[in-house]
Amino acid sequence: MLTFHMDYFTQKNDQWRVEDVSLKSIAEDIHTPCYIYSQTALINAWNAFHTAFKEYPHQINYAVKANSNLAVLNVLSSLNSGFDIVSGGELFRVLKANGNPEKIIFSGVGKTTAELKAALEANIGCFNVESLAELLRLNTVAIQLKKMAPIALRINPNVDPKSHPYISTGLEENKFGIPIFEAIEHYKQAATLPGIKIKGLAFHIGSQVTSLAPFLEALDKIIALIEKLKAIGIIIPQLNVGGGLGVRYQDETPPTPEEYVTAILSKLNNSDLTIHIEPGRAIVANAGVLLTRVEYIKKQGSKDKYFAVVDAAMNDLIRPTLYGAWQDIIPVNPGALHQVPERLFDIVGPVCETGDFLGKDRMLSIQEGDLLMIASAGAYGFSMSSNYNSRPRAAEVMVHQNAYQVVRTRETLADLVKGERIP
Ligand SMILES: *Cc1c(COP(=O)(O)O)cnc(C)c1O
Repeated sequence: MLTFHMDYFTQKNDQWRVEDVSLKSIAEDIHTPCYIYSQTALINAWNAFHTAFKEYPHQINYAVKANSNLAVLNVLSSLNSGFDIVSGGELFRVLKANGNPEKIIFSGVGKTTAELKAALEANIGCFNVESLAELLRLNTVAIQLKKMAPIALRINPNVDPKSHPYISTGLEENKFGIPIFEAIEHYKQAATLPGIKIKGLAFHIGSQVTSLAPFLEALDKIIALIEKLKAIGIIIPQLNVGGGLGVRYQDETPPTPEEYVTAILSKLNNSDLTIHIEPGRAIVANAGVLLTRVEYIKKQGSKDKYFAVVDAAMNDLIRPTLYGAWQDIIPVNPGALHQVPERLFDIVGPVCETGDFLGKDRMLSIQEGDLLMIASAGAYGFSMSSNYNSRPRAAEVMVHQNAYQVVRTRETLADLVKGERIP
């Protein structure tokens, strides 16, 4: 039997707490749906990667897209974290959250000229360039701004991460990176460009990777490539191995951050490469939950099967709908537990789509009005949320020890139509 995998969400005397605050009290004050993050969980997850490197030169670039709330970014920036961004919007957020520009890495296949300019003007640490076309455009923009753009080429190592097809990125057929067999030609060309300064090499094979083998397979290929580049006089000071370390949602047993870092370092004996990593999910997923309330219980058809219609929906948390992802769903009402018999439920939202579910086939003892927490919702939860069905987006709360703060207020009806005009 696996123990519950969210260290800072605990049940004491029938009360579910995040750190020292009861979830019920937050729901009463802030209402639902509402995302709740543990600051201590965030800090400890980040530190688990950091301490695993010991004295080895490294930089942890938190992948902002996993959870881009300013409070989350600010907690990590106060640990002196770097950041992996994929848009001008994320650049804006990191700078607002007091992130160090020199520790910003800009990834993504479609950086626009405006985004390249903004990042050059902010003096970011590295552009992870994903195509020759992007390299040439970046060179031109840098020359116009009288700057040198620090770059790594993102190389696609053609490795199968064995996760969901939508979040596999390091296969030949994916849109990401430069094919490994073209890497040397591209580096040779980069070395001739006056607006470009070669800083490193990057790869990222996918997300929710639950074994070490794909990372190590990619590393072997990439280290051999770095040796070949060295032989022709192209020196790579930084190796960015991307993100993608998986977490436990149900019964997965991914490597710990320590096992992951140790395995990477074991491939690098006597090298003088600085290692960059880009964990997103592994830092935030199990630092957050989505709190929701049961609005209605209904029985449909002849089977002994019920729907719990809750006040959160696919617009708040799309992972179950998009990837068929499984996240634990736990009743948090103190005292109400086990007052009703367990029944088989699909947990669904109010959105007008059959795909609008948060969990299926769960045995739960719940009734109307009960509070539920959707576990492991800190990553790719709020950051993928939308206003579909004209639903204002949820509030976000950060807990630290016995206190909490709203770090994003619930959207209002006025927010919904902000910027719209009737001509
Ligand atoms: C999404 C992404 C990450 C983070 O992935 P996780 O699975 O959340 O760790 C890191 N690097 C790049 C380039 C990404 O696109």
